[in-house]
Amino acid sequence: MEEKRREGLLEEKRLFFPPLEFRSKAVIQNSEVHELARDREKYWGEQGERLHWFKPWDKVLEWNPPFAKWFVGGKLNAAYNCLDRHLEGARRNKAALIFEGELGDRRVLTYQDLQREVSQFANVLKSFGVEKGDRVTIYMPMIPEAVIAMLSCARIGAAHCVVFGGFSSDALKDRILDAQAKVVVTSDGSYRRGNIIPLKESVDQALRGVSCVEKVVVIQRTGHPVDMKAERDVWYHEVIRNVTHLCPAEPMEADDMLFILYTSGTTGKPKGVVHTVGGYMVGVSTTHEWVFDIKDEDVYWCTADVGWITGHSYLVYGPLSNGATVVMYEGAPDYPEKDRYWEIIEKYRVTILYTAPTAIRTFMKWGENYPAGRDLSSLRLLGSVGEPINPEAWMWYYKHIGGEHCPIVDTWWQTETGMIMMTPVPGITPLKPGSCTTPFPGVCVEIVDPSGKPVPKGEGGYLVVCEPWPAMLKTVYGDDKRYVDTYWSDIPGAYFTGDEAKWDEDGYFWIIGRADDVINVSGHRIGTAEVESALVDHPSVAEAACVGKTHDIKGQSVFAFVSVKEGIEIGDQLINELKSHVVMKIGSLARPDDVFLTAELPKTRSGKIMRRLLKDIAEGRAMGDTTTLADATVINFLKKNIDAHK
Ligand code: ATP
Ligand code: MG
Repeated sequence: MEEKRREGLLEEKRLFFPPLEFRSKAVIQNSEVHELARDREKYWGEQGERLHWFKPWDKVLEWNPPFAKWFVGGKLNAAYNCLDRHLEGARRNKAALIFEGELGDRRVLTYQDLQREVSQFANVLKSFGVEKGDRVTIYMPMIPEAVIAMLSCARIGAAHCVVFGGFSSDALKDRILDAQAKVVVTSDGSYRRGNIIPLKESVDQALRGVSCVEKVVVIQRTGHPVDMKAERDVWYHEVIRNVTHLCPAEPMEADDMLFILYTSGTTGKPKGVVHTVGGYMVGVSTTHEWVFDIKDEDVYWCTADVGWITGHSYLVYGPLSNGATVVMYEGAPDYPEKDRYWEIIEKYRVTILYTAPTAIRTFMKWGENYPAGRDLSSLRLLGSVGEPINPEAWMWYYKHIGGEHCPIVDTWWQTETGMIMMTPVPGITPLKPGSCTTPFPGVCVEIVDPSGKPVPKGEGGYLVVCEPWPAMLKTVYGDDKRYVDTYWSDIPGAYFTGDEAKWDEDGYFWIIGRADDVINVSGHRIGTAEVESALVDHPSVAEAACVGKTHDIKGQSVFAFVSVKEGIEIGDQLINELKSHVVMKIGSLARPDDVFLTAELPKTRSGKIMRRLLKDIAEGRAMGDTTTLADATVINFLKKNIDAHK
């Protein structure tokens, strides 16, 4: 198989060129697209033409730093662009959504089906008094009605605020109150590993003492008994019956709000990120087509939940605006067996898969026999998002899922950026495992020092976006000051992403980690991603998370939390081996003083490792906000055991 690996993350030298077969059919074959997009306003203006506008814009960009208005004067509707526009031609009866339930049930909605049901539900919302500019909270499982509810809001100009169905009632309450939602859309429950999660119960708890919500619409999914509060609560299937499916799409100003979405809360209190209709739609539609090389015959599967930005941009608005066929799966990857994803790919002949490193590392842990037992030959392109993908995981994905013939697009972006910002363009960009390669055409990303000066190639610093981009957040909901303070105050004249990165001699970008997480050992800045990749490279390791621990002499030392693959024996010998492995891959500077072996690492509900809490544990102090954790038992276990060691 692959040659012996010798270097650390930032010296990864393997290059993978787009296969000829792929390149010759790719949507983008011209390797000069980045050059051609140098005139950003002209480029984005051209991309704007891909949408349907009720009224054309007068000006592509109005920039009063740090507030931008894109496609000024233009009017459009996001739902119209995702649905109605496709009804005139051959896409009318094309599958828009292929839904697979956890229990194996399935439902296919064509573009026409989806347009009708969205229009009906939009009329229902109107009948409840929902108007343009109002907010609707959506707290749902991954079922088609979640998409229908989102697009229904978009159709009438109400802003949706999707809250991930795995969040607790407290987290839901905070978000309902912050958005001052008028309506909540939920379901009686959701399936997870064969169990029922009672979503409606959480809504009932969340709404105690809340006065802004006038109606709760409940979708019947599981048949789990629920309390229906008279006047307030209604069943979806009852209110939608006999409602007309004629509902004109509201012409929205390009700069009007499309939705509010709260960030994952990996680093602290979530922020209500506001996205607008025009710029956002142009940004996600363009990137979805170019990055995923989307063609009419593709079967595209994005595994992200609609509760995250990836679900918004690349399960709903990007693919539907491009008329794609989208697979939507409700449940867990290991239900009923650990090959469920591969079974779905085999069943629907999925051609493009977009998922997260946390999932890939989990599949690695389970072993390659699961994918090997299924026919994955339909796949032609793979994507990754959410965290840095360690070269080891990249190689596994490439080999065991992509059969060594699918390019991998490692896409760097954020809730705030709305759209993919750094990524390979798969027909033209040579790939390096672990690098998100270069900025998307028309996007200006730089690595700078604290004064805002770009660092030379080969060096690292703060990752910033130096020019406005179409899908950029408009503000933090109801808090322009927080918008300015959080994103536009650290680095002069630029949007600060909160991440650190390096670029190499070829101008490829490598994410080092969150700026707050970077470890400073004797004055050397060591990236969490780099040490973690070195650890994951060891054959016994499944996942790793590193944090800095205060050290009298060095300032900080590396503290590593490591989970091992199934069946691996743990003990001091392995710990010593891991320390030496890091020294071999990176150097003695990065050698962890502490290595703690554990079965699981604490993650956010979006699947990201929560280093902030691990840092609290390593430092032996009280833990910060834990509300966005997926499973609090993991962190409590760690804390207890580490305290016992001391
Ligand atoms: P919060 O901002 O509330 O702490 P969050 O940053 O985890 O939460 P998201 O907007 O979902 O919320 O995640 C964006 C972050 O995820 C990026 O800033 C980056 O740290 C990480 N990320 C996303 N994609 C990639 C990628 N391809 N490579 C490396 N890191 C990535
Ligand atoms: Mg963030």
